[in-house]
Amino acid sequence: MSTPAARPATRRHHKRPRGEGQWALGYREPLNKNEELKKNDDGLNVRQRIIDIYAKRGFDSIDPADLRGRFRWYGLYTQRKPGIDGGKTAVLEPEELDDRYFMLRVRIDGGRLNVAQLRTIADVSAEYARGTADVTDRQNIQLHWVEIESVPEIWNRLEAVGLTTTEACGDTPRVIIGCPLAGIDADEVIDATPQIRAIADRYIGDPAFSNLPRKFKTAVSGCAAQCTVHEINDVAFVGVVNEQGERGFDLWVGGGLSTNPMFAKRLGAFVRPEQVHEVWAGVCGIFRDYGYRRLRNRARLKFLVSDWGVERFREVLETEYLGYALPDGPEPAAPRGGNRDHVGVHRQKDGNFYVGFAPKVGRLSGELLHRIADIAERHGSDRIRTTVEQKMVILDVAPEKVDSIVAELEAADLQVNPSPFRRGTMACTGIEYCKLAIVETKARAARLIDELERRLPGFSEPLTINVNGCPNSCARIQVADIGLKGQLVLDENGEQVEGFQIHLGGSLGLEKSFGRKVRGLKTTADGLPDYVERVVRNYLKHRNEGETFAQ
Ligand code: SF4
Repeated sequence: MSTPAARPATRRHHKRPRGEGQWALGYREPLNKNEELKKNDDGLNVRQRIIDIYAKRGFDSIDPADLRGRFRWYGLYTQRKPGIDGGKTAVLEPEELDDRYFMLRVRIDGGRLNVAQLRTIADVSAEYARGTADVTDRQNIQLHWVEIESVPEIWNRLEAVGLTTTEACGDTPRVIIGCPLAGIDADEVIDATPQIRAIADRYIGDPAFSNLPRKFKTAVSGCAAQCTVHEINDVAFVGVVNEQGERGFDLWVGGGLSTNPMFAKRLGAFVRPEQVHEVWAGVCGIFRDYGYRRLRNRARLKFLVSDWGVERFREVLETEYLGYALPDGPEPAAPRGGNRDHVGVHRQKDGNFYVGFAPKVGRLSGELLHRIADIAERHGSDRIRTTVEQKMVILDVAPEKVDSIVAELEAADLQVNPSPFRRGTMACTGIEYCKLAIVETKARAARLIDELERRLPGFSEPLTINVNGCPNSCARIQVADIGLKGQLVLDENGEQVEGFQIHLGGSLGLEKSFGRKVRGLKTTADGLPDYVERVVRNYLKHRNEGETFAQ
């Protein structure tokens, strides 16, 4: 663990409206319950209580402040009690929604796994999580039905193979996302693996950064396809080559979705590879010290960046946190065309192949994870990757083994050549386990894929359909071609039923834009396949030559 990022001894106070709860302006007294909880005891300290007390004495011994607060610092959330419908989400007290079981999130920085690690997660799933496993759109793997008594043993197993759940949730630096092809793609601008490791090794679990105003999301990548959604992270380092031919990173800050979505902004600064970890610590330090803590819905970095503007943010970073100026740098080149998701069979720079495959909406199981580990091993690979599209990739497959690995994956319904609907559809956790959910998502999105494949068999264009169970944006609805936000709607008989508000035309990349929320454009969940089919058929009928769905 590293030394905390230096706090400046003397700090210039910047003019801004008072009362946002910024530590750097002297607001050290907690201004709300979340801040009070963190001040009373650091989230990282709950680990020892879980080992010494809660795992031994059971669920009822857990202090509520730990249960609904600090447990998140180790990737633990209580699940939603089964059978409570979405209409009750907003009216019940949190404890009435709490089940006695937990979701456990395993952070996988850079999406990097080896066979032993994947087998370990598979074993934990089978033994302690009723066989559940979902790959998320931030490259994590989530397990469900975990009991508090099992947590220390789960940690032992995970940590023995170099995995952790530390700061997988909570007001902390969450998983660092990276390109699954780092180091093997011939077109990549720079391999960001050492930078991801440098940040994770130094700062994850470091008390200097364990009390942030809210979550802090990081992406570091030199991917030619810009697959790590850098536009919507709190901080992102995007691979570039400067005028002198030096490879490094372009620094972006302040992206985020949910309510008030904002794209990250370029600071225009060039960051050398060896500087990435300290620049990361500087940006995270600004968030910790100047971030808004009074209102939870203003406590993301994007609000500070929006208020300060990029020039001031860069000046504070350089003068108060780094102690040196960063040179100006170029903006990233246009992303490589085609899909960003790395699905399919493609050649690596060493002549071997990588094979990306699509489980349906990220849903896997302990059994399937075992099967993937076996398939990878049988085909000579010890490197498996998760993606930010709820997909997976096996690296290092020799040319003569490609046909065989494709056949084995497809036999397990892990499709290497999926339909555009399976390839482009993501779903958040939804009402099955999530206490904030209003509607069911995973099973519904899986059925939607089946329906669309049946109804539109010849459709072959890239199309993204992102399904959320509530107004949060865990599945990135605002940047999908078709974004579906779960809510209750009225059916044709005037009855309240599960349904979706529709956002249309969101995208990332060169032409990035948030989807338009058309007032009144809603569908019942039952009417969803008809609705999407209609949208796709309209597009096919009216498109201009060369126009893609996203345009
Ligand atoms: Fe839960 Fe809402 Fe996030 Fe879905 S979008 S996982 S329902 S909080």
